[in-house]
Amino acid sequence: MTNQQPIYILPEGATRQLGRDAQRNNIMAAKIVAETVRSTLGPKGMDKMLVDSLGDIIITNDGVTILEEMQIEHPAAKMLVEVAKTQEKEIGDGTTTAVVIAGELLKNAERLMEQDIHPTVIVKGYAIAAEKAQAILNNFSEDVSIKSIDILKKIAATAMTGKGAEKAKEHLAELAVQAVVQVAEENKVDLDNIKLEKKVGGGIEDSELVKGIIVDKEKVNPNMPDKVTNAKIALIDCAVEIKSTETEAKIQISSPEQMSAFLAQEEHMIKDMTEKIINSGANVVFCQKGIDDTAQHFLAKAGIYAARRLKKSDMEKLAKATGARIVTNLADLSAIDLGKAGLVESTKVGDEEMTSVSECKNPKAVTLLLKGGTQHVVDEVERAMTDALGDIAAAIKVGKVVAGAGAPEVELARNLRLFSNQLSGREQLAVLAFADAVEIIPRTLAENAGFDPIDLLTDMKNKHDKGQKWAGIDSFTGKVVDAWKAGVIEPLKIKTQAIKSASEVAELILRIDDVIASSGSSKRNAGAEMPHGMGGMGGMM
Ligand code: ADP
Ligand code: MG
Repeated sequence: MTNQQPIYILPEGATRQLGRDAQRNNIMAAKIVAETVRSTLGPKGMDKMLVDSLGDIIITNDGVTILEEMQIEHPAAKMLVEVAKTQEKEIGDGTTTAVVIAGELLKNAERLMEQDIHPTVIVKGYAIAAEKAQAILNNFSEDVSIKSIDILKKIAATAMTGKGAEKAKEHLAELAVQAVVQVAEENKVDLDNIKLEKKVGGGIEDSELVKGIIVDKEKVNPNMPDKVTNAKIALIDCAVEIKSTETEAKIQISSPEQMSAFLAQEEHMIKDMTEKIINSGANVVFCQKGIDDTAQHFLAKAGIYAARRLKKSDMEKLAKATGARIVTNLADLSAIDLGKAGLVESTKVGDEEMTSVSECKNPKAVTLLLKGGTQHVVDEVERAMTDALGDIAAAIKVGKVVAGAGAPEVELARNLRLFSNQLSGREQLAVLAFADAVEIIPRTLAENAGFDPIDLLTDMKNKHDKGQKWAGIDSFTGKVVDAWKAGVIEPLKIKTQAIKSASEVAELILRIDDVIASSGSSKRNAGAEMPHGMGGMGGMM
């Protein structure tokens, strides 16, 4: 057995990176991702212009939108994008924060690895710190409820600071809170009950809350009224038409008399159906299925406004907004199933004919009609509104809030350092590295606003040591202020979730010491380069 034959266990063309190379490469990729979104953080963060392969442009400062549009391919970098997506799904806001912290955790881990601390030890220390962080954050947070209207408005305004919607943020914040309070049932907020409808034209400040639902369907027949006041609304999820025979039933018609008798019979059946609607007292009908021409004619003659082929989700929202019951069988339809709205009218949103159901009494589903001068503006207003709504809902759900502006991160880091005194040796170093990593948020806020991060952070830390737990950065003056009094307020969940997912992904990446890429993916996975169009990003490090 002297003649050693090479042994192939991987297919031809597969590449493999082991040990430190694999770790360094993954950390580098993750750091590039974090670095890319870092400049957008905070009220003074910059925007990014993203151009896709078709030349469509998005201008945004929303972390998750940027990362999704970049179509990142490096596996470790992709894991960071997942962090942003989780944050988006759980809350809707704080995506940049989560990614930036994850990048910094990995950067600091690299530093420890250079001091010959094994990744396993770092992972353990990070896990301890992450768990402790949850308790610490919880401890210094403040209580909030759906009754704290003032705080809720501040949460919404904070979410929108620095976004395209900034100019009208007070107005939008007001709308966001009104919408949430309107649809809340006790302390439960289901954001599905708030429909966002965009309209290009007018200014952002013309955005409004519609106490009802706007559906993207027009009235089925021009002879129907354009407008119905004191609407009594029937919601029907069966077809108002004679179903064409699906099986191969043949009808033998051999004479003109038979033909007209057949047609008369059909008309009779349709008439029967429409009469059931008319007799219920409805003057508006929304149908999830079809309404055929004859039925339209009869309904129009009775002065009824009807729209057809509505989405199921819109039917459900209409039920919540108007108090109607969705009826599956026309025979069951009666007055008690009808919903109410002060006004139903055909309306134009942009170029599209729609139907607006408004002036509902105590609706449990509403529409926010968002306006702006151009499509880009309206899209960014929508993203800002989504963040604001998500933040309000998260605050109410958990019942806890914190001030922002870097204050909670400094307070968390301070407490983690105190806690680390109980630990020994290398784990302690990892917990300290974790504490340092969290401070990337205030540091970045200072940098992005054009202020000296070292001076500001030192000042903040001093004030925190003196018990001013909400000492944070005023991004506009560069002074350290009480962020709570300044009205910069965020749901606790943004912070707990960001820390949780950031540390999870950092731990996951640190545990990898072997990257095996099959030949198809070897080229793109071999280095930490960004995909096409992002060339040169590596130089940012
Ligand atoms: P993310 O995607 O993480 O939400 P943002 O760009 O929305 O990123 O920035 C959020 C950060 O900006 C938070 O740390 C928040 O506390 C901070 N922030 C928001 N408004 C202000 C303000 N008026 N002054 C200082 N910091 C602020
Ligand atoms: Mg935000």
